[in-house]
Amino acid sequence: MTDTNRLPAEVRSPGPGSVALVTGGNSGIGFETARQLLDHGATVWIGARDLDKGHRAATELGSSARVVQLDVTDPSSVAAAVQQIGELDILINNAGVNPGGEDITGATLEQLRTAYETNVFGLISVTQAFLPALRRSAHARIVNVSSGTGSLTWNSSQNPQFDWERVKGGGLAYRSSKTAVNAVTMLTAQALGEEIKVNALAPGLRLTNLIAGMTAGGDPAEAATGAVRLALLPDNGPTGALWSWDGTRAPW
Ligand code: NAP
Repeated sequence: MTDTNRLPAEVRSPGPGSVALVTGGNSGIGFETARQLLDHGATVWIGARDLDKGHRAATELGSSARVVQLDVTDPSSVAAAVQQIGELDILINNAGVNPGGEDITGATLEQLRTAYETNVFGLISVTQAFLPALRRSAHARIVNVSSGTGSLTWNSSQNPQFDWERVKGGGLAYRSSKTAVNAVTMLTAQALGEEIKVNALAPGLRLTNLIAGMTAGGDPAEAATGAVRLALLPDNGPTGALWSWDGTRAPW
């Protein structure tokens, strides 16, 4: 019997005809996801809001990675990327910002707007723009890089992975934006049915630019393995769920 709480062990073998885009692919989890998708044989576009950073990342990958200028908050940049990329099979909505860890007593509307512009509206804008191309794909997959800190269940039931006393109530802008990402993931999956598999990833705490200054955190490459499993789901794989990086189902 299929275990619906665990991702299937097998992945699709993409081949160079399979085209992937990783937004915010120039650093951190996105960069490692691009690296691993290339290793699997896919054609990979690194979306970078700063082209120089994108080209530096592609050089570091030392492979055939392609680079596209893509600021997810800029509709003209998104439209130009759609034109440049053309066909697309795998969309990794990874670009994200964390504008501050304040709770309701300190968070500013500016921080909330910044978080939502990139993490939520940017993700929706990119998804909508690439839907026509994804609909033409036989194995379309969307992976929304969310966060366990956006899980309402984990936020309300003292997830042992969290240092509860430290995090409770905090990070209003970032964490609530990731809760919104989870909702958008579920509703997008419901709207697209089996046509396009849409899942969210909880990557775990990772040492990247996003959490600059923190010393605890794992290797972003480990989180990328989870993104890649969702990107290369077999055709009988799940849709419309939140997954931890290790392939176990996480609660909304
Ligand atoms: P990161 O290294 O800072 O990567 C974030 C990427 O997003 C960078 O490439 C950044 O570009 C890009 N970006 C930011 N705003 C953008 C915009 N408007 N348009 C296009 N790209 C934009 O941090 P990361 O940890 O790998 O973050 C990747 C994802 O994982 C994010 O969605 C984050 O919320 C999520 N996540 C991370 C952790 C963690 O512990 N690190 C935990 C849970 C979830 P620049 O280089 O130009 O800034």
